[in-house]
Amino acid sequence: MITIEKLNKDDFEQVVFCNDKTVGLKAIIAIHDTTLGPGTGGCRFYPYKTEEEALTDVLRLAKGMTYKSAISRIPFGGGKAVIIGDPHQLKNERLLERFGEFVNYVGGRYITAKDVGVDGHDLQVISRKTKHILGIEGAKNSSGDPSPATAFGIFHGIRAIAKEIFKKESLKGLHFAIQGVGYVGYHLALDLHKEGATITICDVDKEALHRCQEKLPVTVVDPSKIYDVPCDFFVPCAMGAILNRETIPRLKCRVVAGAANNQLATLQDGYDLISKNIFYAPDYALNAGGIINIAEELQGYDQKRAYDRISHIYETMIEIIRRSEKEKKPTFLIANQMAEEIIESAKKRSPGQAGG
Ligand code: NAD
Repeated sequence: MITIEKLNKDDFEQVVFCNDKTVGLKAIIAIHDTTLGPGTGGCRFYPYKTEEEALTDVLRLAKGMTYKSAISRIPFGGGKAVIIGDPHQLKNERLLERFGEFVNYVGGRYITAKDVGVDGHDLQVISRKTKHILGIEGAKNSSGDPSPATAFGIFHGIRAIAKEIFKKESLKGLHFAIQGVGYVGYHLALDLHKEGATITICDVDKEALHRCQEKLPVTVVDPSKIYDVPCDFFVPCAMGAILNRETIPRLKCRVVAGAANNQLATLQDGYDLISKNIFYAPDYALNAGGIINIAEELQGYDQKRAYDRISHIYETMIEIIRRSEKEKKPTFLIANQMAEEIIESAKKRSPGQAGG
C-alpha cells in the first residue's frame, strides 16, 4: 500500500492523479525531483490490474529517471506518467489530447515522451495540447527513434567493462547472450558484431529473430534457455526483474549488462550476483543513451553532438567500476551514490532553485 509517508520517504515532489470519465482517461503523473531540471520521462500506456499497481510503477520509474538523468549529467529531473488501461482498446485521439492537457496542468515541471504503449503518432497527438513534450519522431528538431542511441550507449559501456574486467581493448572473441532483439537488442547486436563479438540471441517474437538472423551470424536459443548459455556477457534487452532467485543460479556469465530497466528484482539479487562473481552494470547508467539523445533537442538537435555525449557512458562506467573496487561497494550502490552526489552539489550551488 502506497502512503503519503512512503512518498515523503522517497522525497517525491508531486504526484498527480488525472481522471476524466468522459474520455475514459485515468493517468498518473509522478514528479520525483526537479533539482537538475524538469522531471522528464516517457508516458507508459499499460493495462495495470489495479490503480495501486500503476502508482507503484510510476513512482519507481519516476525516481529511476532522477538517477538516470543525474548520472548522465543532463539537465533533467525525474518524472514519469502512466495511462491506465489497454492501449488497444482505450487509445484514441481525444484521450491522448486530454492527457496532453493534464501535462500542462503541472506547468512544465513534467516533460513527457514515449514509453511502452505510446508511439510516435501518439506523441504527435499529445503535442497538439502541450509543448512539454520531447522525442516526437518525424517532427522538426526531433532526435528520432531513441533505440539506436540507447544501443550505442550500451555498446560504449560494454567497451569500458571489457577493458576493466576482461583487460581487453576490443570485443573480439567475447560472447554475448542477448535476451530480446527488439529495437535496442537488434541495434546492439549490429554494433557488437562489427567489433567481432560472438552472439547468441533469443526472442519470443519470430519476426524479431528473423530480422537479426538475416543480418548477422547468430546462434538462436529458446527464450527459456538463455540464462543457461555459457557466455562472457548476459545482455537483458527484454523486460525488468529478470535477475532474481530463479535465474541468478543459472547464469554462466562473468558480466550482466543490458538495456532493460530495473533488471534486479530485489537489492538482494544484486548481492547474489556478487557472490557468484558476476559483474553487474547498473542498468540506468548503461541504458541512458536514449534520454541523452532526447536531451539534445533542448539546444537544437545535432546527431553528432548527441552521439559524442552518449559515448561518455564509457567514462561513466569506468568511474563506476573503479569506485566500486576502491570503496568496496556494489556497482548498483556506487551508481546511486554518484547520481546523489551530482544532485546534492547542484543543490549547494543553487539552494532553493529546485523546479528549474
Ligand atoms: P522492444 O519491445 O522493441 O524489444 C523487446 C524485445 O524483447 C521484443 O522483441 C520482445 O519480443 C522480446 N521479449 C519479450 N519478452 C521476452 C522474453 N521473455 N524472452 C525473450 N525475448 C522477449 O523494446 P526495446 O525498445 O528494444 O527495449 C528493450 C528494453 O530496454 C526494455 O526493457 C526497455 O524498457 C528498455 N529500454 C529501452 C530504451 C529505448 O531507447 N528503446 C531505453 C532505455 C531502456
